[in-house]
Formats: sequence, structure tokens, C-alpha cells
Amino acid sequence: MALGAGCPRCASAVTGSGGSWRCEDHGEITPLWRPATADYVGLAEHVRRAGSMPTFAPWPLPPGWSVTDFGCVAAPDADARACFVTCSGPSDLDGVVELSVVSEEPGVGLGARCAWLLRTDPGADIGDGPPDAKVRIDGHPISLWSVLTSDADADFDRSVFAGEALGRWLWLVFRPASAALLLKDEWILMDISGLGPELIDLPFGGHPQAW
Ligand SMILES: [Zn+2]
Repeated sequence: MALGAGCPRCASAVTGSGGSWRCEDHGEITPLWRPATADYVGLAEHVRRAGSMPTFAPWPLPPGWSVTDFGCVAAPDADARACFVTCSGPSDLDGVVELSVVSEEPGVGLGARCAWLLRTDPGADIGDGPPDAKVRIDGHPISLWSVLTSDADADFDRSVFAGEALGRWLWLVFRPASAALLLKDEWILMDISGLGPELIDLPFGGHPQAW
């Protein structure tokens, strides 16, 4: 197996096997399956574990960008409850920047962990007033709202956007915070699990930030 089990909500140690896993802080969990180093073999296993849960990434990847991390929260023989991809690459204004895209069912807490927030779901800010940004999925515009991060870790430099896509939370986390300016171009997100053999051409590498 190329992917290791962890807790979706924290970095604590987990124990278990098969369909039964425990986090020492959160008790019984559905594990987050994640590679030690992002590569094609791990992504192929990820696609199998994710089932019908989409794995959204900006598409096409901007020139010079690579996939640095990914994972899914999944029980054996069931569709995943959450998936994420992190990619990074050069930008004109900020040098090397990083973007994580998380799609999850309510209550999983993966997006909040990635965004270093204290709450599990994006909160009441979502859907209040005009959206702050939009992305496109399958040709449809998806509205995103900026999520306040000041009530959590103020030292971790990031911008967080969230909205709803296909009945699930969609989170975009930019690092550093100023990289959120890239969103003005209305990015296209694609479910890369549907790429098939093209997955092998994805560029991997880089050093994702710990969370
Ligand atoms: Zn935990």
C-alpha cells in the first residue's frame, strides 16, 4: 500500500486495521489515506479508495505547477467522505504558492484542518451576500465565500474560501494568503480521478506545508 492511515481532523497517532480505526484524540474515525510522498502509485490507490467522491484540482495545472499532496477519508468498500489535492508552483506576485482543494461531506473536518480552523464546517459566512470568488466545475459556476480565519491560528499565513458543490463542502486554501489574488481568473476545477491513463503524466513533487 502506498497510502498510510491518519486522522482526518488532527495529526495524532492512529491505530487499527480493516474497517476499525481510532485516533488517540478523536476516538473512532474513518481514516485519512495519504502518501508519504506524492507519486503516481499513491494516486492510483487514492482513486480506487475514493470511489465516486471527486478529487478536484485546478485544471489544467498552471505551467511549472505540480501535485505535492493528496488524500481521501474512506472506509473499506465505501465511497470516500472527503478528498483533497494540494498543488504548488510559481506565481508572478508571490513566488512559489500553494493551493489545497478539499471536497467533503459535512462534519468530516478535513477542510477545517487543512485551513487551520477551529470549527468543523465553513460556518454561517457561506451564502451570505454576494460571493467573493467563483470557480467552474463541469462548466457550472460555483460561488465561494471568504472564510474568517482570525478566530483560529493567526500565524499560519493562508486565505480560505468555501462554498457548496454537488451537495458537499468545497474548500480552497491558498498559502500565502496573498496568493488568493490568483482566483480572480475564475479557475476551472476538474475531478482528476476521471483522467484515467493521463494520470501518469501528472507532475508530482515539491514539499507541502504540514497541517
Ligand atoms: Zn484526531
